[in-house]
Amino acid sequence: MNERLYQWFGGRSAVCATQHGKEQAMGPLLAQHAGIQLFTLPEFDTDRFGTFTREIPRAGSMIEAARAKAISAAEIACVDLAIASEGSFGPHPSFGLIAGNLEIVLLLDRRHGLEIVGQHLTTNVRWVHGVVHSTEQALELAQRGGFPSHAMVVRRSENDPVGMIKGLNDEESFVQAVQHLLATNEGRPIFIESDLRAHCNPTRMQNIRCATLDLLEEMARFCPACGAPGFQRMEAIPGLLCRWCRLPTSLPSAYRFECNRCGHQLTQTVEESFADPGQCSFCNP
Ligand SMILES: [Zn+2]
Ligand SMILES: [Zn+2]
Repeated sequence: MNERLYQWFGGRSAVCATQHGKEQAMGPLLAQHAGIQLFTLPEFDTDRFGTFTREIPRAGSMIEAARAKAISAAEIACVDLAIASEGSFGPHPSFGLIAGNLEIVLLLDRRHGLEIVGQHLTTNVRWVHGVVHSTEQALELAQRGGFPSHAMVVRRSENDPVGMIKGLNDEESFVQAVQHLLATNEGRPIFIESDLRAHCNPTRMQNIRCATLDLLEEMARFCPACGAPGFQRMEAIPGLLCRWCRLPTSLPSAYRFECNRCGHQLTQTVEESFADPGQCSFCNP
């Protein structure tokens, strides 16, 4: 328990804007470190804010989508504290050929006028997708995606939602769905993909947990000007000098922080004076 965080959040109830069991990943951590009690709204429909299966595109950025969910849930539940999360999958920004998962968790505190965001970017991903011509091919691809502990979606084609079946997590119903669609798709192959909803993909659930830990770290940094939690690390400024050649590397030499409430900013240099030459593109190309 962080005493200072507890003064701001201890004993407060927060609505968790999710219908996919994310409170299981976030709730215990928020309770343990900040004294926040999470609850969910059984009827809250998060699909209208966008789906991974593309029937409903997400409006705006990840943060905008998470904010919209948090505001909506807080209004429905009549509370002043809400937590929402948003995830995305794609090529990892630093290792283009490897799949990455970015998870953000947003805390909205209307009592104190705070919006604090935690995030986690990782290559720890169970995500497969592709066209298949047979049951064997479908099973092989699904198993590479961690099936059956990680559920699958079966559909006619990549963007056709008609007849799509989500949340398939046992071999019998998966094979049945694949065979049925193959038989009724006029000889064309079908498309299968990982079901990326949190309750269907335990690897993603782990990543949401990591993003929640990052949120707590951001919350626990207090603004030196106004004292509010959430003196957020906004940006890493590269250029730490190499110990051997003294040329700038891509490692951060400083971080820029900004208060989410009063806007106070601070640039703080890192503790290390030099970068390991192993990280230098000149000494270790
Ligand atoms: Zn401040
Ligand atoms: Zn060097």
